[in-house]
Amino acid sequence: MSVRTRFAPSPTGFLHVGSARTALYAWLFARKHGGQFVLRIEDTDKEREVEGSIGHLMESLKWLGIQWDESIDVGGPYEPYLQSARVASHQDYARRLIDAGYAYPDPYTPEEVDGFRKKAEEEKRPFLFRDHRPEQFEEWDGTKPLRFCVPVVKRYEWEDVVFGKLSAGEEALDDFILIKGDGYPTYNFAHVIDDIEMRITHVMRGQEFISSTPKFLSLYEALGETPPVFATLPPILGDAGTKKLSKRDGAKDILEYREEGYLPEAMCNFLAFLGWNPGGEKEIYTRNELIASFSLERIQRSGAQFNEDKLLFMNREHMRTLSDEAFIERGLLVAPDSEKLRKAVPLLRERTHTFGEAREMLKGELSCMWEAPTPQKDLLVAKEPAERANLTKQALESILGALEAAPDTLSADEAKALLMPIADAEEEKGKGGRGGVLWPTRYALSGLEKSPDPFTLISILGVPESSSRLRSALAIL
Ligand code: GLU
Repeated sequence: MSVRTRFAPSPTGFLHVGSARTALYAWLFARKHGGQFVLRIEDTDKEREVEGSIGHLMESLKWLGIQWDESIDVGGPYEPYLQSARVASHQDYARRLIDAGYAYPDPYTPEEVDGFRKKAEEEKRPFLFRDHRPEQFEEWDGTKPLRFCVPVVKRYEWEDVVFGKLSAGEEALDDFILIKGDGYPTYNFAHVIDDIEMRITHVMRGQEFISSTPKFLSLYEALGETPPVFATLPPILGDAGTKKLSKRDGAKDILEYREEGYLPEAMCNFLAFLGWNPGGEKEIYTRNELIASFSLERIQRSGAQFNEDKLLFMNREHMRTLSDEAFIERGLLVAPDSEKLRKAVPLLRERTHTFGEAREMLKGELSCMWEAPTPQKDLLVAKEPAERANLTKQALESILGALEAAPDTLSADEAKALLMPIADAEEEKGKGGRGGVLWPTRYALSGLEKSPDPFTLISILGVPESSSRLRSALAIL
């Protein structure tokens, strides 16, 4: 039997880190086993639906590279993949349960049910609908909620691939609603039917579903169906071990990471490691490497800590694997001078963790690459007493002399090898020290108090333009 997994989001908002991880694990597992990954939209809770979220969820998954094999757009053998369009099938199964005596219409008004609940509370016992199950079942005309008639009240034990043996007692079993008064199925019912119909073999989801699992199991039993394999994923904890994720640590929209200039492959790497690891030291994995090493057995049980620094680290490592051209293209990096932009890539790789930072740097510190600087005299000589301004002049003249004898292009290392001896000589003379040379050089080249070092600037600007900037600075002095 081929592996079939699904991601079944409800369209109630954006995709955040937790649900993206669920989708990723289901996808990795299907890919690893050459199976299919299904995207099913569970839109039967019409009150909670948020407009636009289906498109947003699909865009998020596409960005991450989590490509589905079957869904509402590409179709598939078990169409439709929009849950609200499957209501006829849910109703068929409901009829089968009614015919077998496993379902009945709720004969009470909502007020009466409320009364039962209040009374149970007063008597300090759990409210169970099955205590009020009618002796005789009415005909179901579709206007009243249809309830499951739980066949046997017993303790359920089941095997979870991640958590091992799990069990829940009778308190977890009740005559829950299958189909609501509005005709739509509940989540508890609809997802079980859809998983059966879509031949889903493995279900990955969060811990919050453990307590309802006996309900699902009793339903599978009543229908004579075999349940899928369950793999419960560990919770994701915020920084400092708090239960609740804040926006800073993963409660935000996945597409915000795209805006901030994260690479989707880095995001997948990070998400995969939130609760799973392949063992060993290696941490940077491509999507294909993740697929090859993924296994349910290596998913951890304990909570996974969301660590933003780790995400930044992984993103930078993935950025580093890109060629210069890909770095510019995928980072959406633009600058007035494409040649200088290309030369700035090594610096951007070195200094930034996201393409957002790289874009900032191009507009900030590196803006001096395409805009001629207008250095201020008092800043040019800032590193030494003003009366020694002539020393700055001498220093810049030495640097200019060295550059004029150099080829048109120098790497940062070559520029350093050329200029450091001049700076060292100044230091020996005890004038302004190394800084008395390097500071004015850097400032003359950039016109900015904060900028990359002069060697890097020369490597990007090229020798002729660097020389011309030094000449302009000398004219001011
Ligand atoms: N629609 C459910 C949710 O978004 C799916 C849960 C499940 O995977 O069964 O929570």
